[in-house]
Amino acid sequence: MNVGEQPLLVILVALVAGIAIGRFWSGGLWWNRSERRRSGPASIHYILGLDFLASRQIDRAVSELTLAARENTEAIEIYLILGNLLREKGQIERAIQIHQSILHRPGISPSERAHGLLCLGMDFKKAGLRNRAMDTLQKVVELEPKNAYALKNLVKIYEEEHDWEQALRMEEKLSGATGESDSTLRAFLFDQIGQAAWQAEAGARAARCFDDAIRTEPRLPPPYIHYGDMLEEQGQLEQAEARWLSLATEHPRFAYLVFDRLERVREKLDRSGNMEELYQLVIDRDDKDSHAHLALARLRAAAGAHDEAFKLELQAVRANPHALAVHLEVWKSIAESSERSDWISSYLEEVSRSAYFLDPYVCIKCNYRANGILWRCPHCQEWDTFVEERVELVEP
Ligand SMILES: [Zn+2]
Repeated sequence: MNVGEQPLLVILVALVAGIAIGRFWSGGLWWNRSERRRSGPASIHYILGLDFLASRQIDRAVSELTLAARENTEAIEIYLILGNLLREKGQIERAIQIHQSILHRPGISPSERAHGLLCLGMDFKKAGLRNRAMDTLQKVVELEPKNAYALKNLVKIYEEEHDWEQALRMEEKLSGATGESDSTLRAFLFDQIGQAAWQAEAGARAARCFDDAIRTEPRLPPPYIHYGDMLEEQGQLEQAEARWLSLATEHPRFAYLVFDRLERVREKLDRSGNMEELYQLVIDRDDKDSHAHLALARLRAAAGAHDEAFKLELQAVRANPHALAVHLEVWKSIAESSERSDWISSYLEEVSRSAYFLDPYVCIKCNYRANGILWRCPHCQEWDTFVEERVELVEP
């Protein structure tokens, strides 16, 4: 193989293994000069194999690379690529055999061993053999403590295992290796560890984890919510109120997530009157917050101010016309109203000006839709990717 082919090969291997070049593969030492010499001159099958790979003709690439591997059994990289291609094609057993055969070769260098183990670990991961994948990727990390690709995959596997503490440990090593810290992921992991500690009745430890989560990424609601829930369960109502209130006032966009909780705990503390002030505060900061409009409407209706409540509900329709909950509230009010036909006319007028969908939340990574906010996407498994879908009015 000549020098000019090196970058192409790196990119192709990366494509096959799903590696984003430069970001995850910190080692990069695999193709050093002495190893390259062992590969010998490139065969026509090798070149054709890479060509087919570049044009995504995987079956033909596999055929050519198989021929190339037979011609030059010393060329470890051909076997690595071939194994990775077979894995991607779903022939995982063959991929495992090929990658294991590389590891059994006498005299391979530590970086070759690390790369072979990395490929093998990805085979096990794809096969759903998480424990073997973990063991294998851990061996990569023992050989190359800063192998970001191995660490990144270990984080994901520990997450799948719900082993949040190990996932956090790997994330710490990963940020040590890359110099970049994923504060969102860390905060979610702290929150998960906190919940597990709470369930294990280790309240003090849970409190520390929730605090760590909030300090790491203050804009994420779950730690505030869970911390408050735990404090409420422990009978510390004022402290629970304080946690939820700090979410509601510092991040009003998420205030609605704690409306019910605050109503409940403030009733017990005999200060229900403070709710109106909070709803008004949220509306003042964002007049499109339908949750706050509906909550305030409920308060007004309970106080007998039905006209005012209905107006607030119509404002909620205008703010968030695709949320079914908003329409349900309106129809409940209409059903109880003595001026039914007037109210129906106002409602129809409001709705006819709005376009709406039924599912108001969507994952920005994969477009998965859900009826409410989710913190981890069930489709693409990413954290914190859901946004409320707000539809602009259709121009007549
Ligand atoms: Zn998603």
